[in-house]
Amino acid sequence: MIKSLLIANRGEIACRVIRTARSLGIRTIAVYSDADAEALHVREADEAVHIGPAPTRESYLVGEKIIAAAKATGAEAIHPGYGFLSENAEFAQAVMDAGIVWVGPNPSSITAMGLKDAAKKLMAGAGVPVTPGFMGEDQSPGLLADEAGKIGYPVLIKAVAGGGGKGMRLVESEEDFADALASCKREAASSFGNDHVLIEKYIASPRHIEVQVFGDKHGHVVHLFERDCSLQRRHQKVIEEAPAPGMDVATREALCAAAVRAAKAVDYVGAGTIEFIADGSGKLAADKIWFMEMNTRLQVEHPVTEEITGVDLVEWQLRVASGEPLPLSQEDLTIDGWAMEARLYAEDPAKGFLPSIGTLELLQFGEAEGAYGRGRIDTGVYEGAEVSPHYDPMIAKVIAWGEDRDEARERLGEMLQDSAVWPVKTNASFLVKALEHPDFAAGKVDTGLIGRDGEAMSEPPVPSDDVLQAAAEALVPLTDMAGFRLNAAPRRAAWFLLDGEKVEIALTGEGSEEPATGVLVTEQGQAWLLSPWRHDAAHGAADGSGAIIAPMPGKVISVEVEKGDTVTKGQKLLTLEAMKMEHTLTAPFDGTVAELNASAGAQVQVDALLVKIEEAAEQEA
Ligand code: ADP
Ligand code: ADP
Ligand code: MG
Repeated sequence: MIKSLLIANRGEIACRVIRTARSLGIRTIAVYSDADAEALHVREADEAVHIGPAPTRESYLVGEKIIAAAKATGAEAIHPGYGFLSENAEFAQAVMDAGIVWVGPNPSSITAMGLKDAAKKLMAGAGVPVTPGFMGEDQSPGLLADEAGKIGYPVLIKAVAGGGGKGMRLVESEEDFADALASCKREAASSFGNDHVLIEKYIASPRHIEVQVFGDKHGHVVHLFERDCSLQRRHQKVIEEAPAPGMDVATREALCAAAVRAAKAVDYVGAGTIEFIADGSGKLAADKIWFMEMNTRLQVEHPVTEEITGVDLVEWQLRVASGEPLPLSQEDLTIDGWAMEARLYAEDPAKGFLPSIGTLELLQFGEAEGAYGRGRIDTGVYEGAEVSPHYDPMIAKVIAWGEDRDEARERLGEMLQDSAVWPVKTNASFLVKALEHPDFAAGKVDTGLIGRDGEAMSEPPVPSDDVLQAAAEALVPLTDMAGFRLNAAPRRAAWFLLDGEKVEIALTGEGSEEPATGVLVTEQGQAWLLSPWRHDAAHGAADGSGAIIAPMPGKVISVEVEKGDTVTKGQKLLTLEAMKMEHTLTAPFDGTVAELNASAGAQVQVDALLVKIEEAAEQEA
């Protein structure tokens, strides 16, 4: 077994690999960019090597820097994770040429599966059913249009070098073909440096079903059953599960046998995934499932396979790379229960899934043990860490296990609901609603479900009245409430700020002996900051003190005045950005800037004194 390992990746997958390596007594070496100096994978590794600036092209994608880091630290092997250099055959070869063990397949296997058209031809030759379509060298638009007509609309145009859901166009009818082809080729050329495309029959009610395969250096190949990744948004996986709903034993055997044939056809070593597209309009059947592509690496969603088989796939990768035979034979592998994974992202579904960048000031996950059985959180961040604009904004993979599908699904929903992240926005409530969608709950899922019904799932969640009321009591002084309790039923409403929005909340309790200045309200996997609304905070000091305080934590965008300036009532003093909104603070009356504690770019806490204005009259006196 290798004794040391460099992980050429970041985030949750780097942490995932480090965890297993450590359990096997392997010394771990992380690499990191400027943006990741404080990242979790750097903290968890035994050593870490800086490899350059934040942009991936200057750090994580530079093979020479990674190999140099491995040599400098005496790393015996390199694990590439997924994404980045994981499917780069040249890098794999360079690692091996440097005398370092490559934790992955032979470069020739990566190359054989690298282009979708070549891979499909190879698979067809190996007796694996492939998605019907055209994959010729001749790329003239007229010929491609003819071929599309022969296949029959709707068709899918796919960049042969595409990946990550990019470089694909669905074409519903002949008149749209020419434009779609041109735009697909443009995207393919700019994203992948290769504008060749293939044309495929668009499968009705498509289901994405993939098989985990594993090979060793002694010619053995096994499969570890299938995963269903049909819940997708724009061809990107959102929720994955294993096994696939509605898969009968005979269909599974045929599908998994085809996957093993596919892996053997490229002498596959290590962890790989054969992706199939299935016609989900009726019952799953072997003659309605076709090869789509192979991913020659560990997959994002590998944990669901681990949870139903009890196999640590990273451990297998490290054993196989060290030359050991596969730890288990096909007969020893069985399915136990059901597992489901959700990708929790720092993004705002209500704003078109825009990444939500910032500090994870609150980061809580639903209990991963005990109450949820075999629940699991794979994360690459911690409370206080930054979600950086440079990389994929995934916060965690939340994985639940159950005796059956419903149990796994319900537990995953609970784990997500009990999570709380703030002030960064997440897709937690989107995921919960997707899990509760009647079709998904019934196992009737195709890749178009979110496209059809996603809008309702994207609506921003609001905390319930009960939760808001309880939180509001903590903000109101006891004395404020007492007078209202003397005779009639205690009842009164007060104004608060909920993440910067003014809201009215009915109060029924007693208030608090030591009222807080702000409370984080957590529900539905989200969190909101509730603070007392102050007339003076929002509109200047109505109490006459002239103290301008920060109504919520935020960042000073601009300061319009200097100390000693004369200001007039209503004049703009400074702009604060909080909760992605800009708030302008103005002078409450004519006067002079007596104190100024803010500068552009500074982070300020709620209630911080930013500016103090002295009244004109006062000054003269
Ligand atoms: P999975 O099925 O494991 O989710 P994906 O195809 O979604 O695989 O890719 C996993 C990771 O690799 C993602 O971070 C994705 O953005 C990245 N990725 C995959 N293919 C490419 C590509 N051709 N170019 C750039 N990034 C890619
Ligand atoms: P990528 O390399 O981007 O992962 P894939 O070929 O794996 O590309 O396709 C990505 C997704 O596009 C699939 O998971 C599926 O949702 C959809 N898709 C691909 N091919 C077809 C097809 N022939 N018919 C219907 N949907 C398809
Ligand atoms: Mg794919």
